[in-house]
Amino acid sequence: MRASDQPRRLRAERFLCYEYKDMKLKSGAMLKIAKLGNPILRKVAAPIDPREIKSSEIQRLIDDMFEVMYDEPGIGLAAPQVSRSIQLVVMGCKGEGGFPETVLINPSIVYYGPEQVDNWEGCLSVDGLRGKVIRPSLVRVKGLDRKGKALDFEATELYAVCIQHELDHLIGKVFLDRMTDMSTLTQLDEFSQYWQKEPTNVI
Ligand code: ZN
Repeated sequence: MRASDQPRRLRAERFLCYEYKDMKLKSGAMLKIAKLGNPILRKVAAPIDPREIKSSEIQRLIDDMFEVMYDEPGIGLAAPQVSRSIQLVVMGCKGEGGFPETVLINPSIVYYGPEQVDNWEGCLSVDGLRGKVIRPSLVRVKGLDRKGKALDFEATELYAVCIQHELDHLIGKVFLDRMTDMSTLTQLDEFSQYWQKEPTNVI
């Protein structure tokens, strides 16, 4: 999930830096984000064998995904967005109204609260667009953390919205599929010009 479209230049510079410094250095800055139209975004992701969670490959991928997410910057990233069709998402949003850094493996939403909330959503795989999506404001989630430990917790507001957005990526959905009013689909400049002042969480 996208936080802002501004600092993309920074990431490009870092990419170049790593590219020329050491091609073998598999930094997270080299993970490329799959964009809308890439078939991997439409696949249902495979569960991860819990015995594999502590492997260096999975641990490295988690670290690299956090690095890419913060670089963009975004507040959530699902493994299919970096062309790995496995059930892994990372999330984190510092500051007021934010939520803790979270890794979810093989997650499922086991309860949706009755209240709905509408938010502007954007996506690191969908450049330059925002749209309003209505989702439940509370979810209960089960899954595994990066150590393979069982998780079972409730999330509300932005955290709940981000979880639903990222878990959608694991079943081949993007936020555009969840929009009920396509007339709210907005390009970024127009979003800043006309809509940013609305009292909604912008994500
Ligand atoms: Zn997304």
